[in-house]
Amino acid sequence: MITPRAMKNENLTLFAPAKINLTLEVFGKRADGYHDLRSLVVPVSLYDVLTLTPLDADIEVSCEVVGLPGENLPMLPAPRDNLAVRAAHLLREVTGCCGGARIHIRKEIPIGGGMGGGSADAAAALTGLNRLWGTGLSIEALMELGARLGSDIPAMVYGKAVCMEGRGEKITPVPTCWTAGTEWWIVVVNPGFNVPTGDIYRRFRSGLTSNEETFINARFALERGDRKLACASLVNSLEAPVYDKYPLLASVAGRLKSAGADGVLLSGSGASVFAVAENHGQALVIEARMKRENGSWLWSRVAQILPDGVMVAHGPLEARV
Ligand code: ATP
Repeated sequence: MITPRAMKNENLTLFAPAKINLTLEVFGKRADGYHDLRSLVVPVSLYDVLTLTPLDADIEVSCEVVGLPGENLPMLPAPRDNLAVRAAHLLREVTGCCGGARIHIRKEIPIGGGMGGGSADAAAALTGLNRLWGTGLSIEALMELGARLGSDIPAMVYGKAVCMEGRGEKITPVPTCWTAGTEWWIVVVNPGFNVPTGDIYRRFRSGLTSNEETFINARFALERGDRKLACASLVNSLEAPVYDKYPLLASVAGRLKSAGADGVLLSGSGASVFAVAENHGQALVIEARMKRENGSWLWSRVAQILPDGVMVAHGPLEARV
């Protein structure tokens, strides 16, 4: 049994970034009921913030929703269903650690928004508690644990740009050449309702996927920092079933294009839609135009694709986690 090494009252704060899928190709349904997929996933500068406080034995969670539309509140999971809590229990189970923790989540990632908010929290909990409890698992082991809880979690534990395949458990790093100041800017908009992922996969009909060349171009664009090529290679197999069921989202995407964005795509299974802008200034202009034309019902944020590093820890543990 591992005894937690953290001292009482030592808190650990982690930034858990959301993700967007620059490509998401869904292939056939597998025997286990899941679909095979391939996706280029990048972290973006929209964060949930987790504060972990060691406790003797209990695992407790509290959530605070910041700046999200009111419709997000009922979507908050019950404490035992919270992916961060499930991650904590799983980590204890596999390591035999007897530690406890209070997990406070300051949520800024839209819930059910296709931006992997719950997965980000689980990834941050796994990574942070592994430090806090001194359980010493490798990043690969944490990714494997993450895969047991959700498809997006291994990619989010890894943290940088990746290609995700299989159910999401096969992760290949994608090198990027961003340096500070050259990262791409995006505008994310969310209508305030959530899109149930399972229902969209059920509505998905194969045959609507992209071709190989588009994927190769998108990966090349990421590696070279070629924003124009990336915009021309954005693809999401789930756009058709989502836009079919929620025409409002198709119209939001159309309005982002009219506002001047070079590339617009549904993130994951929605309901968030993002636009890739030429630079920070253009992102602000696009966001302002969306606000002007659509009023306050449309939640939006300007964010950056993050070049590196997912989680920053403050407090007694200062290194990047
Ligand atoms: P997915 O595509 O995996 O369903 P998403 O990115 O669209 O995810 P999330 O914000 O991760 O959306 O929420 C999806 C579901 O996960 C919601 O039903 C929510 O209640 C549940 N959930 C569990 N834990 C969390 C968490 N910590 N934060 C947000 N949602 C969570």
